Amino acid sequence: MFKGENIIEFQKKFHNDDACQTYLADIKLSNGYKCLKCGYEKFSIRTKGYARECHLCHHVESPTANTMFHKVKFGLQKAFMIAFEMSATTKGLSASQVAKRYSITRKTAWYFMQKVRLAMESSNNFPIENIVQVDEFVFGGRESLKQGRSNDSRKKKLIAAVEISDTGKVKRAYFQKIEDYSAESLRQIFDTHISKKAIVYTDKWTGYKPIGKDYNITQKYSDKGNSMKQIHTIIHQVKSWIRSVYSWVDEGHIEKYLAEFSFRINRSIYKQTIFHKLIERMVVHKVVEFKLIKLAVK
Ligand SMILES: [Zn+2]
Repeated sequence: MFKGENIIEFQKKFHNDDACQTYLADIKLSNGYKCLKCGYEKFSIRTKGYARECHLCHHVESPTANTMFHKVKFGLQKAFMIAFEMSATTKGLSASQVAKRYSITRKTAWYFMQKVRLAMESSNNFPIENIVQVDEFVFGGRESLKQGRSNDSRKKKLIAAVEISDTGKVKRAYFQKIEDYSAESLRQIFDTHISKKAIVYTDKWTGYKPIGKDYNITQKYSDKGNSMKQIHTIIHQVKSWIRSVYSWVDEGHIEKYLAEFSFRINRSIYKQTIFHKLIERMVVHKVVEFKLIKLAVK
């Protein structure tokens, strides 16, 4: 397992495409082997220690088959580097920058990065608990300094939920796009990401009232954003980060960017293994066709 954030160590470990193939093959094997064609469970190793040949039907399976690395034409070494940068860097990394850095087209870079973001999406298996803050915000359109809920149709309406640690730090954060500020829309992030045992703080907006039937909600005056400092800091960070990597091509994909942001925040205490976890997810994630990612545009 590759551990750490050191780029020199990373380049030593993944010095060519073969090294990456072997790494993928090992992850695959740790999940057990089953021939993709006939389901037989015995194989022998072909090519340089990684491609596996089924003992029964002789189907040869490459390490990338049936993973998100399937048909990555620009080479696994570059693919691993991009995934490493996306998992480690907290700065913005746009598709144009990646395209230039790795001598690939912007479209190719964008598509691969969208796949990485898909793999970063939450499993929704670990709801946030203890102290939680929830608030809505808007992104895009004309930024205004005015407080309150905006109905500018160019703005995307979003909601954030943040878990606060005993020491007052942000432990985990999740985001969702919302249609409007109704209780029904606001409730979705509660049902997906918040434990019913959590103590949740929101502002005084009436939309949160009905949700209080099922969740432990305390509503306080926002005091110009001073009452829930942690969530407002996170919202500020996510907005400036998205602004640095976002472009018109990505209209409708904002949730994938939010997933990327959450993935890094929520694993900031597990930085040593963040890259390995990401590659593991990309191995088990179903192959995604370009047209499907395009179709995901809402
Ligand atoms: Zn077979």
